[in-house]
Amino acid sequence: MTLTLQQLNQADVAEATQLLDGIYEHSPWIAAAAMAARPLRSLAHLKHALAQVVNTANASAQLDLIRAHPELAGKAMVSNTLTAESTHEQSKAGLTQCTPEEFARIQQLNADYNQRFGFPFILAVRGPRGTGLGKQEIIDTFARRLFNHPDFERAEALRNIHRIAEIRLNDKFGFEPALGNDVWDWQERLAQHTDPGYAELGQLTVTYLTDAHRACAQRISHWMRDCGFDEVEIDAVGNVVGRYRPAQEGGKYLLTGSHYDTVRNGGKYDGRLGIFVPMACVRELHRQNKRLPFGIEVVAFAEEEGQRYKATFLGSGALIGDFKSEWLDQHDTDGITMREAMQHAGLCIDDIPKLKRDAAHYLGFIEVHIEQGPVLNELDIPLGVVTSINGGQRYVCEMIGMASHAGTTPMDRRRDAANAVAELALYVEQRAAQDGDSVATIGQLHVPNGSINVVPGRCLFSLDMRAPTDPQRDALVKDVLGKLEEIAQRRGLHFKAEQAMSAAAAPSDPAWQKRWENAVDALGVPLFRMPSGAGHDAMKIHEIMPQAMLFVRGLNSGISHNPLESTTSDDMQLAVDAFTHVLHQLDA
Ligand SMILES: [Zn+2]
Repeated sequence: MTLTLQQLNQADVAEATQLLDGIYEHSPWIAAAAMAARPLRSLAHLKHALAQVVNTANASAQLDLIRAHPELAGKAMVSNTLTAESTHEQSKAGLTQCTPEEFARIQQLNADYNQRFGFPFILAVRGPRGTGLGKQEIIDTFARRLFNHPDFERAEALRNIHRIAEIRLNDKFGFEPALGNDVWDWQERLAQHTDPGYAELGQLTVTYLTDAHRACAQRISHWMRDCGFDEVEIDAVGNVVGRYRPAQEGGKYLLTGSHYDTVRNGGKYDGRLGIFVPMACVRELHRQNKRLPFGIEVVAFAEEEGQRYKATFLGSGALIGDFKSEWLDQHDTDGITMREAMQHAGLCIDDIPKLKRDAAHYLGFIEVHIEQGPVLNELDIPLGVVTSINGGQRYVCEMIGMASHAGTTPMDRRRDAANAVAELALYVEQRAAQDGDSVATIGQLHVPNGSINVVPGRCLFSLDMRAPTDPQRDALVKDVLGKLEEIAQRRGLHFKAEQAMSAAAAPSDPAWQKRWENAVDALGVPLFRMPSGAGHDAMKIHEIMPQAMLFVRGLNSGISHNPLESTTSDDMQLAVDAFTHVLHQLDA
């Protein structure tokens, strides 16, 4: 019999705890304490309330919870003494049918892990889609997590326990994140297309206008038609544009979307999530035979990552009339110009200026994107409302001192270029941290022709500084460049600093941000606001119309631009629900 929220809300604490028996392994205290959060507004609310009890419990209670779990493919599995839930999960992941070699490998990992951390390895073996991870994936994850810092690993174990609980709750409530599953599956299927050289390695790389890229455009356009979009086209730069018409002709459109190109060896969700979430919403409208007073235009942007050519945001740039004709003459590493690539793809270069959108025909722009950072994952919060896309500046710099003998030059007579940059690096770290939400990085630091016995005479380095507002960014840049000058002067060195990039911050439009906030709140999950550290298509569209973004939590510390990028179909379902809620708000 499936459980309902109403039952939980009406039961006394002892009954409710009994109803949630088995969700957290051998730990009824969690369900009991979570009942203080009643009335429960949604299943997502219940999941979060339970996770909060664990996350705010003391360290020894957390450890007891972790230790209450059986080892993977361990003694309990062999002797059939697992809880019913654990047996189900381990068999779904195929762990009950290990080869002797696999079994031996897992036993060794169990022993190494236990010795390092003092608790059993916990992995939600039913995985982000709920259907079960492969054995190899389990073994790889196990091996990888052995290298984590112990504090981090304990938190990661708890996050896996929350995920296990989430899936157990879904089973208990008879809930299936059906739309989230579809979104997850679309991404999985799109990831089958990958550039040559990467396909062989099982890696995902889709760069502008390659065969794989054009195959992705075809797939997306077919799916859009299947979903019931009225018009679908691949435009002059390769964007896939789907339009679902408004109830009455002449109605404005809501613009949304994200990119389908990827970085080299990237993840499956970066960009694509923001295409498939609104696609699922349009399909639901079409299924219900429903028209809204406004239309929905979903754009799968052809290019955002700047991998094949140095033309980042090419897809969204074209929509605001920011396509630079000199880009057409850029060569890729094989010597193919962008113009040739576009002609080969059958794109009508002459039509690019026509792609520019008239903001008067649109309500605004919204974009869903995977967070690409660790914040939501660490807080156990599924969705984040973006307050601003950080503005940034980049500099390419050189510190010039005097190369001299490492043995004969006394410490007080040196002109060490690398040490000067090291001093700056520590300042950069401290100065950015002082703002709370600024970030600054020296990502490149190089002593050209350096030797083990020579004091560095030159040091090449980079500066990347970002902040949610332009004044905050400008103040950060001013302080860092000021410090650079002060360090160089005091140490008797000189420097060059050349600006390589400057992008304005794109604060969310308050009314549109509020719509996302209303949507998140309506789902019963905590409202969390955050700036975006990464650039997104929304920052381009920002130049012509109001915009606001929604972030979805990533797994594995939110890692992105990496094959480990991942998120669950439950979180994708919440994103679909939030998007649907925004549509309802606009309808009302
Ligand atoms: Zn992206």
